[in-house]
Amino acid sequence: MTPSKLPQLIAPNSSLRKQVDEMSGEKVSACFQCEKCTNGCPVTFAMDIVPHKLMRCVNLGLRDEVLNSDTIWVCASCETCTTRCPNDIDIAHIMDTLRQISQREGIEASQKNVPLFHSAFLSSVKRHGRVHEMTMAIDFTLKSQGLKGLLGQAGMGLDMFKKGKLKLLPTQLGANSQVRNIFKKAKRKGR
Ligand code: SF4
Ligand code: SF4
Repeated sequence: MTPSKLPQLIAPNSSLRKQVDEMSGEKVSACFQCEKCTNGCPVTFAMDIVPHKLMRCVNLGLRDEVLNSDTIWVCASCETCTTRCPNDIDIAHIMDTLRQISQREGIEASQKNVPLFHSAFLSSVKRHGRVHEMTMAIDFTLKSQGLKGLLGQAGMGLDMFKKGKLKLLPTQLGANSQVRNIFKKAKRKGR
């Protein structure tokens, strides 16, 4: 959706903002639309609703537009916006929260590979305590491109392995108790 396609007449609804505030611990209503987040964001070229407008949409309760946007999946979580916000709003955290809400509500992500990558990344951390690139890449490629895709990428993986860019075995075979506890706590909170 492009910003020009956002509804022009809106009856504000606070339900999305309240949900985001509660889950993230942030205060979206503090946003006064200074645009500093958008001006510093390195990936606005690929977004359909730039960050400050997305914040406005959350405040207005435009649930469908926000949760179906490319923006929440294109965000690279670089936190530039967060460090620039004069109101100390952690916008990167809000993007993450919106991704969680979108997934919980079963909305298909516009950038289909992004949730698959998140899932492969977190599975690797959960299993080993840190990312093991080789198994994560295999997991992600299998889920996103199937066996054919994996075979197609095998040559590149082998080259990287030969150059020492990929390790055959993870440095840790199992996650330590601290990492396991983080995942347990997140599960209890429904994240
Ligand atoms: S930088 Fe902060 S206050 Fe400014 S538009 Fe972005 S979220 Fe709102
Ligand atoms: S965290 Fe996301 S929205 Fe914020 S500057 Fe980085 S890419 Fe843009």
